[in-house]
Amino acid sequence: MLAGQPIIILRDNVERTRGFEAQRSNIMATRAIAAAVRTTLGPRGMDKMLVSSSGDVVITNDGATILHEMSVQHPGGKLVIEVAETQDEEVGDGTTTAIVLLGSLMDEAEKLLAQKIHPTVIAQGYQLGMEKALEILDELAIAVDFDDRETLIKIADTAMIGKSVEAIKEKVADITVDAVQQVATKTDAGTYTVDEGDIKIKKQVGETMHDAELIRGVVIEKKRVFEQMPASITDAKVALIAQPLEVTKTQVKSKIKITSSEQMKAFSEQERESLRKLAEQIVAAGANVVLCQKGIADAVQYYLARNGVYAIEDVKEADMKFAARALCGTIVNKPEELDEATLGHAEEVGELPNTELTVISGCDNPKAVTILLRGTSQLLIDELERAVYDATRVVQDAVEDGTFVIGGGSVEIELQMRVRDYAATFGGRVQLAIEAFSNAFEVVPKTLAENSGFDPIDKVVALKKAHADGKKHAGLNVFTGEVVDMQEAGVIEPHRVKTQAIKSGTETAMLLVRVDDMMVTQTGAGPAGME
Ligand code: ADP
Ligand code: MG
Repeated sequence: MLAGQPIIILRDNVERTRGFEAQRSNIMATRAIAAAVRTTLGPRGMDKMLVSSSGDVVITNDGATILHEMSVQHPGGKLVIEVAETQDEEVGDGTTTAIVLLGSLMDEAEKLLAQKIHPTVIAQGYQLGMEKALEILDELAIAVDFDDRETLIKIADTAMIGKSVEAIKEKVADITVDAVQQVATKTDAGTYTVDEGDIKIKKQVGETMHDAELIRGVVIEKKRVFEQMPASITDAKVALIAQPLEVTKTQVKSKIKITSSEQMKAFSEQERESLRKLAEQIVAAGANVVLCQKGIADAVQYYLARNGVYAIEDVKEADMKFAARALCGTIVNKPEELDEATLGHAEEVGELPNTELTVISGCDNPKAVTILLRGTSQLLIDELERAVYDATRVVQDAVEDGTFVIGGGSVEIELQMRVRDYAATFGGRVQLAIEAFSNAFEVVPKTLAENSGFDPIDKVVALKKAHADGKKHAGLNVFTGEVVDMQEAGVIEPHRVKTQAIKSGTETAMLLVRVDDMMVTQTGAGPAGME
């Protein structure tokens, strides 16, 4: 007889939240995270200073970075962070937009829940709204040619505006477009693909930001190991070696008891002999450059230098791999495995004057480039790197999509109005849910206005009026507060940045509203009553 006996199926350390409370909790978490990043949206957004527990400081305007550094505990909140991470991985930009949109979708959902509209209906309305929004976005997208440098530069510019790297924006936009065009591959269908792995970003502290440059090849943060080696090599045949160029224990007989100076001499001679052999094998294979992932013994350095070989040691694994790809060579374990086929080729290998860098250019595979960034402080150069990363990714997106959309709140207003019209074709509660979905888009122009010191409501009204008058590209000039044609203003973004933000924002919102029971196991908590 179980009647009257409560059945306990959860452990003591499980904290349970149910029903409206669970939904509220997720709404609050989403709102808190969105509020934390929304002030950074747009060119006039502010920066955040983040300090980690170990005292490291990051100053950034980048949504993805801010969220990455925030240690979010709330389970629903973690899903929100995932939206930003996916956005960053998939498209490389639009993280703040995605989070702010999600926050707005949750706000709208809260209003619907308060009107006793069931979460299933909300989810249904959001799904319908999303499908329609993506369809409209496709219609609004404008084609861009692979060679249309001017447009691609504008796309790069839009992604960088407002970051603290304004000073060299033009140069960086140029470099990123060059880099992407260089590594892009045309497919049979006539479209283009870009392998992100072909573009490396390298940083050097010391010089001014203005010295950023694109190197058609590989850059490694190492100088040659030995002064006596040539400082540069033309027509380079490059050996890529993973193991140390040293005498390893197995090469010298393990148990030798040295009892006389005679034997000592024999021993070191044997050792020197093995080292010389390593160098000889390299030279015999035809190599005049060595990239070694581990150390190179002094004797090997000496023999290599005598044979006019340029060598660097302790090269990072990632750099070895990138070099192998660029040089069309193969990384071998030992020099004995070297031959014509495993060696890589480049026109030039050498030290970049006044730096600690080795540059390998004119590689066999032209589809490997390095963007070399410089800056006077680590903080600055890190933010520059994030900006360059964003710019590279958006140019890549645009080249792959072959389309772009209009920024400055323009597409969001168009989506809001058109999805709202679509909602009107439905009746009943689902109509309310689709309408709520459409209203969520207003958050983008509103936030852009707010962050620029303008009245959000006034600006949204003015934008809607312009769009109602058929000005499809009207958006907010965040510097003057005027409603202007954003295509003419050059504020344009890849299609994919918006598609991805809408998809992941909506899907996560749908997931979160449907949750009505949260069970959180408290790790580390002792049995009940012990705390
Ligand atoms: P995200 O992380 O979402 O990329 P950003 O801080 O980069 O956030 O802001 C992107 C938003 O700013 C987009 O809506 C974009 O259209 C808008 N934007 C960018 N440049 C301008 C500009 N010059 N004028 C108005 N809006 C702009
Ligand atoms: Mg951006």
